[in-house]
Amino acid sequence: MSKQVIVVGSGNAALCAGIAALEAGAQVLMLEKADEALAGGNTKYTAGAMRFAYDGADDLLPLLKDPDDPRLEITDFGGYTTTRFAEDLLGFNGGRPLSPEQERLISGSLPALQWLGGHGVKFEPIYSRQSFEKDGRHVFWGGLTLAAENEGVGLFEMELAAFERLGGAIRYSSAVTGLLSQEGRVIGVQAGDEDIPADAVILACGGFEASEARRKEWMGGHWDKAKVRGTPMNTGDGLAMASGIGAQRYGLMDGCHATPMDLHMADYGGLDLPASERKNYRKICYFLGVMLNANGDRFVDEGENFRNYTYAQFGKAVLDQPGHFAWQIFDAKVDDLLYAEYSFHDAHFVQADTLAELCQKLEGVDADAARATLDAFNKAVNDDTPFDPTSLDGKNTPDLPLPKSNWAQKLDTAPFKAYPVTGGITFTYGGLKVSENGEVLRNDDTPIKGLYAAGEMVGGVFFEGYPGGSGLTSGAVFGQNAGRNAAQ
Ligand SMILES: Cc1cc2nc3c(=O)[nH]c(=O)nc-3n(C[C@H](O)[C@H](O)[C@H](O)COP(=O)(O)OP(=O)(O)OC[C@H]3O[C@@H](n4cnc5c(N)ncnc54)[C@H](O)[C@@H]3O)c2cc1C
Repeated sequence: MSKQVIVVGSGNAALCAGIAALEAGAQVLMLEKADEALAGGNTKYTAGAMRFAYDGADDLLPLLKDPDDPRLEITDFGGYTTTRFAEDLLGFNGGRPLSPEQERLISGSLPALQWLGGHGVKFEPIYSRQSFEKDGRHVFWGGLTLAAENEGVGLFEMELAAFERLGGAIRYSSAVTGLLSQEGRVIGVQAGDEDIPADAVILACGGFEASEARRKEWMGGHWDKAKVRGTPMNTGDGLAMASGIGAQRYGLMDGCHATPMDLHMADYGGLDLPASERKNYRKICYFLGVMLNANGDRFVDEGENFRNYTYAQFGKAVLDQPGHFAWQIFDAKVDDLLYAEYSFHDAHFVQADTLAELCQKLEGVDADAARATLDAFNKAVNDDTPFDPTSLDGKNTPDLPLPKSNWAQKLDTAPFKAYPVTGGITFTYGGLKVSENGEVLRNDDTPIKGLYAAGEMVGGVFFEGYPGGSGLTSGAVFGQNAGRNAAQ
């Protein structure tokens, strides 16, 4: 008789788990807290980009939506070895070695993409953002090379279609509120008033980034004040339910992906804009100017490193400031270099012809102190070194107690602009510990029989940052594994 498997959530991890369980012969019921429009969780908010190790074009071509695209003839995809994937993860590990979960992510990445391809998920090369043109050819950097057709929404729709084709059932507006267990084994779930029995339950219901209370409790700091970039649904329900029956919390519980965001964006991400526009609420060009807090002080070295290596920590730094906000200040010299997110139709900013006038317009800021900080900054700028935004140019502010180590140009060209920002949270890194077959482990590392986890719910995959595109791949690798094993 086939196993009854319940999957909690309907994002990428849940759908991969559901498809794999169906493939292995189980009957699968997926329970989703959101209504049909908001189902799919953070997965729908992504650009659908997935990072995986590959040897070259031969690994990629079978995955493509359009294998006859004429650009393919003049494209060099290069390769992305497992070693490079490991190095990229290690770059965000803060000195930690690769975790066992990261090793699984790397080795399972290409097989997971091929498996998705086998279920009708189509991918496209990310020509616009991940390649450059050289001698008439499109040359990819490697790493983040393919994205699902129609971004995160497309990924969700293609996976859902595969799940339903195989006979999976999904119920929307059905939040799972408890786990049923007997003699240490999970035997089903509670969804409101209803008890639903199952042979196995797979939790794939996201992190706790959307719960102010759980961010405060599990992360501390000022994380409760953060804006949420994605779905309002990921409130840590799965983590709380599993912890309630003895599951081990694992990974960096106060770790998350964060970024400076427009102070006036909505409290949660909306799905009304395409993913390419949605990310415009981010504001990560601080390295071209300076950031001031309410006291009129700078509080980070805006030019410490390339923005990829600083924006997550600066998202947190902004939250830690009085009132949990800051202003990013630029002059007209860098106007052309500011990313599209600064000219986005819903970008908030003030503008003035002098720095004195601009400081008066910075709501919530001590204007005199701000003016003094900017004057001191301008005075300290090292004029002998040329500005070069493509390298760590060493154009700095030698005499400032808090230096700007690169890209320090005087703010001296009108009009001056200032953008108000706060910290936004993308997703949390702390979660549950799972065994090699995806079962949730207790504190003594014994498995809770019948309980599996995947996706954002798995701890130990990311620590102080993540190489873009590996969140979705993690969901696919751990989801597929959990689904296959839960069905057996
Ligand atoms: C703005 C944004 C951009 C991103 N861009 C990328 C990117 O380009 N590439 C990348 O790899 N990653 C990206 N990420 C991260 C990525 O979204 C996640 O890593 C991934 O989607 C997580 O998948 P998941 O299935 O674990 O969770 P989700 O996709 O969030 O799914 C969780 C689901 O569980 C449901 N749920 C929650 N509680 C319950 C409950 N009690 N009962 C039933 N259902 C419940 C939720 O409604 C949701 O549908 C981005 C995230 C955001 C917010």
